[in-house]
Amino acid sequence: MKVMELKVGTKNLHITERAEPGIDSPDDVKLRVLRVGICGTDREEASGGRAKPPEGSESLVIGHEMLGQVVAAGDAVERVRPGDYAVFTVRRGCGDCLPCEMERPDMCSTGNYRERGIWGLDGYHAEFVVDKESYIVKVPAEIGLHGVLCEPLSVVEKALDEALKIQVSRLPDAPSTPDWLFGKKCMVVGLGPIGLLGAIVLRLRGAEVYGLDIVSPDSLRPGWLGSIGGNYIDGNKIAPDQVDIKVGEMHMIVEAAGVASLDFNLMDALAPDGIMVLTGIPGDKRPFQFQGGEIATAMVLNNLALVGSVNASRDHFQLAVDDLEQAIRRWGLSTISSLITHSYTAEQAIDRLGKHPSDTIKEVVEWNTPEDAVNSGERDK
Ligand code: BGC
Repeated sequence: MKVMELKVGTKNLHITERAEPGIDSPDDVKLRVLRVGICGTDREEASGGRAKPPEGSESLVIGHEMLGQVVAAGDAVERVRPGDYAVFTVRRGCGDCLPCEMERPDMCSTGNYRERGIWGLDGYHAEFVVDKESYIVKVPAEIGLHGVLCEPLSVVEKALDEALKIQVSRLPDAPSTPDWLFGKKCMVVGLGPIGLLGAIVLRLRGAEVYGLDIVSPDSLRPGWLGSIGGNYIDGNKIAPDQVDIKVGEMHMIVEAAGVASLDFNLMDALAPDGIMVLTGIPGDKRPFQFQGGEIATAMVLNNLALVGSVNASRDHFQLAVDDLEQAIRRWGLSTISSLITHSYTAEQAIDRLGKHPSDTIKEVVEWNTPEDAVNSGERDK
C-alpha cells in the first residue's frame, strides 16, 4: 500500500510502498484511511523539525489528524462495525505511570509516551491503518467526511475542559457545568483551525467570542468567525495590552497562535479570576523580553491562572464528535464544510506541506473515497 514517509530530521518526504497491515488480535480494527488533515506539527516535521521515528527506523509515516472507514475488526471488537466512519486517537501511553494506566496518556507523567505520526509511531498518511479498539471513536454518518476535524477539535475540547475544571474548582460562582461560560467574554488567539474550532465550542456553550489575529478583517478567517457569531479583533490595530480597554476584559483566553511573546502580553487582557490556556507550540524558541514583574503582580493581585494543554483523551475525541454534530445542526453543513478549504492527493500534499498559504483554513489529503457515499454526510457537495 501507499504511505507518506519522512526521513526524520530532513526534508525528504516521499510516497513509498509499505506492507498493508492486518488484523492480528481480537481487539484490532482496520481502517481504510479516507482523509488526513495537515497542521503546523506536520509542517514542522516536514521541514526537518520535531519528529521521532519508530525504534530501529530512520523514517516515519507522518499524519495524525485522520478519518477512516472500518474494513475489518477482530472478534472482540464492539465499538464499531465494518462500514462505520471512525477516527483513531493520537497518543499511546508509556505503560508505567498512573495517568497512562488510567487511559489518560495525554497526561503522561514520564514523558515516555508515543504519538502516531509524530513521536515514535508511524502515523496515518497511508491507505490502511490498524490499531486497538480502545483508541477508536465512531463518527456518525451525518458528520461523514468532516470527521477529519475531530482530532484538532479534540485538542480544543481538552484545553477548554481543563480551563473549566480549574475555574470550577477555585471560583465560588462557577457551577460544575460548561454553562458557566454563558454570556462570558472569551477570546481565541490565532484564527487557524484550532482557534476557529475553539470559537465553535465557546459559541456552543453560549460565550461572547472574540478572535484575535493579524490578518485583514476582510479575509477568509475573520469572515468565517463572523459566520458563527464571533467578533474579530485586528491585532494590527489593537495591541495586546489594549484589548481590555478597547474590547473588554476576557474571562477566558484560548491561545492557539504559538507566539510566546504574545502569550504573556495577553495576560493583561484577562478579567480578575480569569484563565488563559496555551495550546500553540512556538516554532520560534528564541528568548524575548517581557514585563515579568508587572505580569506576575497582575497574576497575583487578580487571581489569574495560566495553563498549558496538549493532546486529548478518548473522551475529548467523543466530545469533539458530539460538538461537531451540534455545530452542523446549528450553523449548517456548508458552514462547517467551508472550514476545509483545500484537499489534495498524497502526491500534491508533499509539495503543499512546504508552504503555508494564508488563504487556507484546514487542508486535507484524500487517501480513499468512502465505500458508501450515500451515508457519508456529504449530501450537499
Ligand atoms: C497534535 C497533538 C500532539 C501535539 C504534540 C499536535 O499537533 O494535535 O495530538 O500531542 O501535536 O506532539
